[in-house]
Amino acid sequence: MAGYDDSNIFARILRGEIPVKKLYEDDYALAFPDINPQAPTHVLVIPKGAYVSMDDFTAKASPAEIAGLFKAVAAVARQLGVDASGYRILANHGRDAGQEVMHLHIHLFGGGSLGPLLAR
Ligand code: AMP
Repeated sequence: MAGYDDSNIFARILRGEIPVKKLYEDDYALAFPDINPQAPTHVLVIPKGAYVSMDDFTAKASPAEIAGLFKAVAAVARQLGVDASGYRILANHGRDAGQEVMHLHIHLFGGGSLGPLLAR
């Protein structure tokens, strides 16, 4: 897989070049609504570091960064109030998964019944 290209849209969001509604931010992660929601609640949680995908992230990020991202995902779910009703997280890596933005992002879906795991 190609290396990290810092012209991707999430890198631009992290640099403040593109405005988003910040739902959560800490030293490790930023969360904002997906622009094309696929569920009543659809939020993206991204690491602040420059990582293409889960593969890159788990190979290169520090344990603190990895823990920080997943703690942030759970914190966002609690903040949005979907921890009680349930939620789904998803990260696309590469071509077969249809990854569009080459900065790791965790999709957080909730706010209603989410149906089957995969639509094919
Ligand atoms: P993926 O297919 O996993 O790479 O998903 C990329 C996601 O980024 C899609 O769900 C898009 O709707 C979302 N997206 C793209 N641009 C923006 C943006 N400017 N703000 C919020 N979400 C975005």
